[in-house]
Amino acid sequence: MSFSFFYREGRLKIGGIFLPKAIFIDRDGTIGGSEHVIYPGEFELYPNVETSIVDLKELDFLIISFTNQPGISRGEAKREDYEKELKGFGFDKVFICPHQHMEGCSCRKPSIGMLLQAAKENNLELEECIVIGDRWTDLIAANEVKCLKILVKTGAGKEAYHKYKNQEYFGSWADVEPDFIAENFQEAVCWIKNRESRFK
Ligand SMILES: [Mg+2]
Repeated sequence: MSFSFFYREGRLKIGGIFLPKAIFIDRDGTIGGSEHVIYPGEFELYPNVETSIVDLKELDFLIISFTNQPGISRGEAKREDYEKELKGFGFDKVFICPHQHMEGCSCRKPSIGMLLQAAKENNLELEECIVIGDRWTDLIAANEVKCLKILVKTGAGKEAYHKYKNQEYFGSWADVEPDFIAENFQEAVCWIKNRESRFK
């Protein structure tokens, strides 16, 4: 039996089976809120985010959140509330790092624990996946597993963009090149839609 590898509609097919493809989306400053954490209940989406998520689903992307929420570890917020909120926005899977920096976990971005776990649970080829975030740490994680990287200039994204443009990132942080820089989430999704249409 031979395996064939080829792409259709941007998807990798191996041995006759299309692997699922996913978009990993940060929460704070990317889909709503601000660069600071706003807990569920008070968190508001930016304009057109929900329709953009629907557009991504129509392209057969699995919509996965990956977000650092140390407020959970501090007892200020509950994991279930984030899960309920994000699923309400249309997310298919929710990955949350609940730890604080000092706990030294392997899931807190820029570590790649959440990406690896999601890939394992959903049979994802991370090189076929996309990350959208407003912080350089989102892109560093994406870069390490070779996801496509989109920086949005909302939330902390303006500052991240500024630092990138002024070459203020050093060491491994300077090795990261966004594949696309979007004004906001909606523009990021338009770019993905155009990119996907090339495979049609
Ligand atoms: Mg963020």
